[in-house]
Amino acid sequence: MLLTAAREAIVTTCQELSRTGLVVGTAGNVSVRAGDLDLVAVTPSGVRCARLTAGLVGVHRLDGTAVDAPLAPTSELPLHLAIYRARPEVGAVVHTHSPAATALSTLVDEVPAVHYYVAMFGGPVVVAPYATYGTDELASNAVEALRERTACLLGNHGAVTIGPNLKTAYDRGVYLEWVCDVYLRAAAAGTPRLLPPAEIEAVAAKLAGYGQRR
Ligand SMILES: [Zn+2]
Repeated sequence: MLLTAAREAIVTTCQELSRTGLVVGTAGNVSVRAGDLDLVAVTPSGVRCARLTAGLVGVHRLDGTAVDAPLAPTSELPLHLAIYRARPEVGAVVHTHSPAATALSTLVDEVPAVHYYVAMFGGPVVVAPYATYGTDELASNAVEALRERTACLLGNHGAVTIGPNLKTAYDRGVYLEWVCDVYLRAAAAGTPRLLPPAEIEAVAAKLAGYGQRR
């Protein structure tokens, strides 16, 4: 089977997204770029995580051509492919409708700096303007919102996180959901005190070295 490891990793990640509540039903999609030929393994449309198998995960070229795909791909294939075309360093994309990120995407234009974790996405996480799901307009809005970032929200829709590999993109999705949830809880109880941009920049520099020290 082509890209076996990538397809199996996608199955495991989908199960984890479902188990942790970041994905309900079929409302999320995951992809991995692999191989020298710029191939992308991506979740199929309309298959619940519990029923997903590696063989059902499709493989497409960056131009969208199906290489080995028994089912129709996720309707957000244009979103995934547009990100890979625009960002050569990206190896994985995770898109969910996780509840806190989706709720916050209806309220703000960027995720407020309520916690220093907002620094882990390369700068303030931007909310892309709303566009109908599955469209090239949505894909290009997301690529723009992701400029120099590793995460964005899609207005009135959900969240997108990217990374050099699937584990990193998944972890960023978990942290993004947590930050959005913290903001919503704080805003429900009062007016959250936000961290100044200079502090977020300092933390971003500190996080860039995190995990590399002895
Ligand atoms: Zn979506």
